[in-house]
Amino acid sequence: MDWQGKHVTVAGLGVSGVPAARVLHGLGALVTVVADGDDERSRTQAAELEALGITVRLGDGATLPESTELIVTAPGWKPDKPLFLAAAQAGVPLWGDVELAWRLRGLHGRTPAPWLAVTGTNGKTTTVRMLASILEAAGLRTAAVGNIGVSLLDAVLDEEPYDVLAVELSSYQLHWAPSVRAHSAAVLNLAPDHIDWHGSMEAYTADKGRVYEGNGVACVYNVADPATERLVREADVEEGCRAIGFTLATPGPSQLGVVDGILVDRAFVANRQKQAQELAEVGDIDPPAPHNVANALAAAALARAFGVKPAAVRDGLRAFRPDPHRIEHVADIASVTYIDDSKATNTHAAEASLAAYDPIVWIAGGLAKGATFDDLVSGAAKRLRGVVLMGADRELIREALARHAPEVPVVDLARTDTGAMSDAVREAAGLARPGDTVLLAPACASMDMFVNYNKRGEAFADAVRARAAESA
Ligand code: ADP
Repeated sequence: MDWQGKHVTVAGLGVSGVPAARVLHGLGALVTVVADGDDERSRTQAAELEALGITVRLGDGATLPESTELIVTAPGWKPDKPLFLAAAQAGVPLWGDVELAWRLRGLHGRTPAPWLAVTGTNGKTTTVRMLASILEAAGLRTAAVGNIGVSLLDAVLDEEPYDVLAVELSSYQLHWAPSVRAHSAAVLNLAPDHIDWHGSMEAYTADKGRVYEGNGVACVYNVADPATERLVREADVEEGCRAIGFTLATPGPSQLGVVDGILVDRAFVANRQKQAQELAEVGDIDPPAPHNVANALAAAALARAFGVKPAAVRDGLRAFRPDPHRIEHVADIASVTYIDDSKATNTHAAEASLAAYDPIVWIAGGLAKGATFDDLVSGAAKRLRGVVLMGADRELIREALARHAPEVPVVDLARTDTGAMSDAVREAAGLARPGDTVLLAPACASMDMFVNYNKRGEAFADAVRARAAESA
């Protein structure tokens, strides 16, 4: 494509918009960035782009700039935005940041690196990091990029080419990326999330399923989640591309699974005499909780599809350490364990961490994003010592508790300010008995009270550490 003089509108700043604007400007396009926000962070980013000669319109994300020939959007922008409706009316094409990266990947004669893509409701970041760790252990030049917060576009255009990229893709990104074709891809699991954005569970599932379209070598699915296998069957893939399952049980043919505490591969067995290839021990995975073993199997499946040897899978999994706020141990105080799973921003994620502890004092609440809590609460009811609620949609959780766990004591903080977290920790400590776990697994997004889940987790950890210091 000839970018010289092309009028491109970039919708949104941040980790996707800023690199997109910079790169397109560098290619000679006439770039206008539009953004809804007009806060300090936006102004700093805008100043950086304006210094290069790029036009930025802050606080004006609705109007389609005149003569726009292409819109490149930040993934979070909803499809029903007035800007997009105006673009559709004017026949202007719309790409996401991932689509742009895909289209530019062979720029200036570079050899494009194959993509190993990961999506799913939960476990994406963990799996992509595990995958990158495995690929590195195999001696490959790689990076964990995409929705993980590292610009895919920058990676694609890196001076020194990558051998392979471990790409995390969100449902939003997949929605805006119609022509991406991965080497291999995995859908980890599917549960209701971001339904308000996509419009329905069907639309959300269909966008996730896009990750399999055009796969060349393997479509990796979760045996325990039949919806993921259905997406593989529905996908239009290259000839010879295989469906590979992962399971926490004994694997069937074309599957990876677990036998006697060992992760084994029955899908990519080089030696025909052998039934299964041993990869690693469950104990090699940090933390060795069931959902995390599933993540490791998915990462291993993608790496094996790429030809990585079993020893590198083991070394890569051993070297992997989880990111903060994902079932992170904060402290033990008076024989009570405090765990930060602030990243449990939906019910499906919270279900995984609630299943890992017993008895639990559960700290929950925030923005529900259209979720319901009955299944989560009824599944965990027997393990709950008590519950502390906060945040905008706490009432929804309180009602579910009244229906399914009427005996469990509930403290409703009735607060939505940042300072509520230290009260929450104090109330939780009051409910806990020796041997219990106080678990921050909000099952909700954080933006009603905090800038993001990191800040929420930090507030929790700070409050816990302050208590630990007091009791020392
Ligand atoms: P994502 O990038 O998809 O948000 P993360 O790896 O950051 O996923 O994990 C987010 C949260 O989801 C974790 O804090 C944990 O509670 C939960 N989680 C991780 N892996 C899984 C899984 N395979 N199934 C269910 N929940 C999971």
